[in-house]
Amino acid sequence: MFRAINKPGGRNDQAATAFARGLFASKAENHYMRAMQQSPDLDPTLPATMPIAGHIDPVPVPRPGLVDGVTPREDGRVDLIGLTKKQIAAVFETAGLDAKAAKLRAKQVFHWLYHRGVTDFEAMTDIAKTMRPWLSERFFIGRPEIVEAQVSSDGTRKWLLRTADGHDFEMVFIPDADRGTLCVSSQVGCTLNCRFCHTGTMRLVRNLTPGEIVGQVMLARDALGEWPNSMQRPRTDGSLGGGDLRQSGAMLPEAPAFAGAQVEGAGGQGNSWDNDEDEAAYTADGRLLTNIVMMGMGEPLYNFDNVRDALKLVMDGDGLALSKRRITLSTSGIVPLMARAGEEIGVNLAVSLHAVTKDVRDEIVPINRKYGIEELLQACADYPGSSNARRITFEYVMLKDKNDSDADARELVRLIKQYKLPAKVNLIPFNPWEGAAYECSTPERIRRFSSIVFEAGISAPVRTPRGRDIDAACGQLKTSAEKKSRAELDRLAEEKMAALD
Ligand code: SF4
Repeated sequence: MFRAINKPGGRNDQAATAFARGLFASKAENHYMRAMQQSPDLDPTLPATMPIAGHIDPVPVPRPGLVDGVTPREDGRVDLIGLTKKQIAAVFETAGLDAKAAKLRAKQVFHWLYHRGVTDFEAMTDIAKTMRPWLSERFFIGRPEIVEAQVSSDGTRKWLLRTADGHDFEMVFIPDADRGTLCVSSQVGCTLNCRFCHTGTMRLVRNLTPGEIVGQVMLARDALGEWPNSMQRPRTDGSLGGGDLRQSGAMLPEAPAFAGAQVEGAGGQGNSWDNDEDEAAYTADGRLLTNIVMMGMGEPLYNFDNVRDALKLVMDGDGLALSKRRITLSTSGIVPLMARAGEEIGVNLAVSLHAVTKDVRDEIVPINRKYGIEELLQACADYPGSSNARRITFEYVMLKDKNDSDADARELVRLIKQYKLPAKVNLIPFNPWEGAAYECSTPERIRRFSSIVFEAGISAPVRTPRGRDIDAACGQLKTSAEKKSRAELDRLAEEKMAALD
């Protein structure tokens, strides 16, 4: 329970003190809190009106107690972003509300946070005015800090974001004619070392929390002006409510109508997306951000619990309410966790395959040495919920003279058929970066590879690179990648593999 215990004068001292105040609140304060709960309109900021027998100034402000999985900030306040309705109710209850009031307030606050996107308790108009300062003294509505934001000429946006403890990570938004896809990071750095990927050249710093993961989606909605208050929705009479982003063009340049989208994702190469929705059934519902792909920095299945909890918030019908059919989780092939992902999260699956022989995949996706191609494809065949309507996407980065031969294409087809996989293949032209050991396949080679797979009855579109004009200023990830020599990269790769054994 007491996670915030630290040495005297240490970094978390203030928070620990604040919590201790809450946990050991006097009887009189408890009496006061009960009175406040019975009369929610009573101003909780005026404790001087209550008799506090024998108490010496200053009057302690009851703080939320510690709830499993909830860590307060240094100022003692708890960031509500990333918490479920139940967790919000629990921190409210620990802060002094009775169970019934906590549940009711949690329901209201959850709606304001995740459905309306407010960042200030004062905007929560169905919560009594007198209750709002009580909330803001104890709680906080966080977002990742934006370090840098870039917009490509094709409308792609990249953000360099920072966690509260100062670690940078990236997020990318790709607007398309019929959808807008947000590429979300799950880790700062990565445990793995796919050899074509920038992020693979970084060490894992830490997992992102559920709040930092769902916070990316919320930040994107902020930036795109897509919360119900700020987004114009068509009325039933067909008129518009004002402020329509697409009409005004205020937020984004017009996106070219690509058949599909690929960008060097926040995690570097090898990320592309498309989902298996029936295009006829597609409705953007007036929104720019319609799809999410867990293809940014990090291997999502190595941060399983936080990714699952964040995506559940994204899918919650009372909150962000994005359908699981619009969310894709991409893995490099962490076989033991794939079935669990299907059962506990249930979103679309993408697999970074990139090679069809052991030797080549061992080299470019080294996790293959641990979980081989056959094992991986069997896990795909067993993935819960996959079907022809919800196909598994295989990412395949095109590397010159490495994985792009006719024989490779035929072997890919053979494997997909052998395992009877409802599959599509995304072919991704490699976007070289300084220090990378590979070159991109020629356009002719990519076309030929694609047509072999297509002719076998498997969809294999070539992804149009997006946002390349902003890669050059891609923030610290690229810079740190460029500073490493080939020998350093090799050493890091070996270290990472050894750490996985
Ligand atoms: S798992 Fe993803 S982020 Fe990590 S090295 Fe591989 S491609 Fe890059």
